[in-house]
Amino acid sequence: MFQIQNYLAGKLCPAISGKYIDNYEPATGQVFAQIARSDAQDVALAYKAASEAHENWKNLGTEGRAKILLKIADLIDQNAEALAQAESQDNGKPVWLARQMDIPRASQNIRFYATAALHNFSHTYQQVGSLNYTLRQPLGVVACISPWNLPLYLFTWKIAPALASGNCVLAKPSELTPYTAFLFAQLCIEAGLPAGVLNILNGYGNEVGEAIISHPHIKAISFTGGTATGARIAQIAAPKFKKLSLELGGKNPTIVFASADYHKALETTLKAAFLNQGEICLCGSRIFVEEKIYEQFKNDLLSKIQNLSVGDPQEPNTFVGALVSENHLNKVLTYIELAKQERGKILTGGERIKLQGRCENGYFVAPTLIEGLAFDCRTNQEEIFGPVATITPFRTEEEVLQYANSVEYGLACSLWTNDLSQAHRLAEKVESGIVWINCWLLRDLRTPFGGVKNSGLGREGGFEALHFFTEEKNVCIKL
Ligand code: NAD
Repeated sequence: MFQIQNYLAGKLCPAISGKYIDNYEPATGQVFAQIARSDAQDVALAYKAASEAHENWKNLGTEGRAKILLKIADLIDQNAEALAQAESQDNGKPVWLARQMDIPRASQNIRFYATAALHNFSHTYQQVGSLNYTLRQPLGVVACISPWNLPLYLFTWKIAPALASGNCVLAKPSELTPYTAFLFAQLCIEAGLPAGVLNILNGYGNEVGEAIISHPHIKAISFTGGTATGARIAQIAAPKFKKLSLELGGKNPTIVFASADYHKALETTLKAAFLNQGEICLCGSRIFVEEKIYEQFKNDLLSKIQNLSVGDPQEPNTFVGALVSENHLNKVLTYIELAKQERGKILTGGERIKLQGRCENGYFVAPTLIEGLAFDCRTNQEEIFGPVATITPFRTEEEVLQYANSVEYGLACSLWTNDLSQAHRLAEKVESGIVWINCWLLRDLRTPFGGVKNSGLGREGGFEALHFFTEEKNVCIKL
C-alpha cells in the first residue's frame, strides 16, 4: 500500500512519529493508502525550513516567483488525468467532474496569482511638503488549511496568492483527501520550487492542524472548512494577533420567481443542489419557489432528480458519486431522519444506496428532496453538506427574504428572476457575500469571495488575497 508523505524542506518524508492514518476510497469503503500522521515536531521542522527559505524567495521578486509558479501550473495540466483520477479516488466525486472542474481550476488558480502579483501595486499620497508611499511586504511564514470537498482546487486557491506575494507556506490538506496535494508536492519538486518555500504536512486537524496555527511565528492563517473549526482557530489566533481569513459553512438559498427563465432556472437549481454530491459550500440546499409555479417546478425538479445517476465515480454517466467518508454518510442520513421527525415529506431519495460489485461498500446516498418543512426548523437551518435539498413555496419578496436571511450562515444566494428591479432590490437585501443572478457558480477569479455572518471572515479572490498575504507599510518623507 502506498504512503502519502509530507513535503518538508523540499523532500518527501514520513512524519517524525512514524505513524500513519488509513486513507479510504469512499466509492469502495476500502483503505487504499496510508497518510503520514504529523504533529508539532514536524511543524517545528517545517517552520525552520520555511523561515530559512523566506529571504531568498522574497528576493526572487514577483517575476522570478511567477516563472516557477507558472511551471507548476503547466505541470498540473500535463498531469491532469492522473490528478483527476486521484481526486476522484480520494474524494468519491465523479472523475469527469474532477477532470472538468477541480484540476483545471487548480492550474488556473496558480496562473492567476502568479500573474496577478505582477500587476499588484502600492500607493503614494502627495501633499505640499510631504510624500507618503506604501510598501506591500510579504508576511513571512503563513499557514494554509484546506478542506476535503474540493481538495486540490481549494488547496491551490490558498497557497497560490501566499507564494506569489513572497511568503513561505505551511499547508495542511484535509486528512480525508490528501492524495492530490501529495502529487502536487512532486510537481513542485519537478518544477524546481526552492526547498522550504512550501511545506505540506499531513495528519489530523486537532493534532498537526492545531500545531500549525498555534505556532508563535506563523503570521497569518488562511482557513477553509467548517464553522466550528473556524471558531476554534479564531480563538487560538486572536490573542496572538495573527491575520485570519476564514471561509466557513453555508446554507444557501436558491430563490426562483415565476418571471424567471423556467428551464434555465430548473437545470441550474438541480445542479446547484446536487453537483459534487451537494458537497460544495456554495450549494443551494434551500430551494424557494414562487407559489404560482411551485407545483410544476417541484414536479419537474423531482423527475430530473430521479433521473440523476448515482454510481461508481469512474463511470462517465455518474452524476452523484460517493460521499467523502462513512462518518459524513452517517451525518447526512441523520439529517434525513431529523427532517422526517420535523414532519418533512421526502419527495424522493432519503436513503443510502447499495451498489453492486466494486462499489458495494461505498458511501452513496440517493439525491433527496424534502417538502413541507418550516423555514426555521433545524433541517432548514443547519448545514447538511450532502445531496439533500428542501423545497418551499413563497408568495412575496418580503416573505422569501425572511426565509433566505433566517439562517446563521451567509455565503451565497442564487436568485432567478427576469424583473431587473427585483433582482437588484433583493441582491442588496439578501445577507450573503455572493449573489448570483440567473446563474450559479459562475466565477471570475478577480471578484471578492467570502461570506458574512457565520460563513466567515475576510475575502479571498483577486487582489483581496494578495493584500491578505502582505502587510502594507507607510513611509512618510518630509520634503
Ligand atoms: P473541517 O473544519 O472539519 O476541516 C477543514 C480543515 O481544517 C481540515 O484540513 C482539517 O484537518 C483542519 N482542522 C480541523 N480541526 C482543526 C484545528 N483544530 N486546527 C487546525 N486545523 C484543523 O471542515 P471539512 O469537513 O474538511 O470541510 C467541510 C466544511 O468546509 C463545510 O462546512 C463547508 O461549508 C466548508 N467549506 C467552506 C468553503 C468556503 O469557501 N466558504 C469552501 C469549501 C468548504
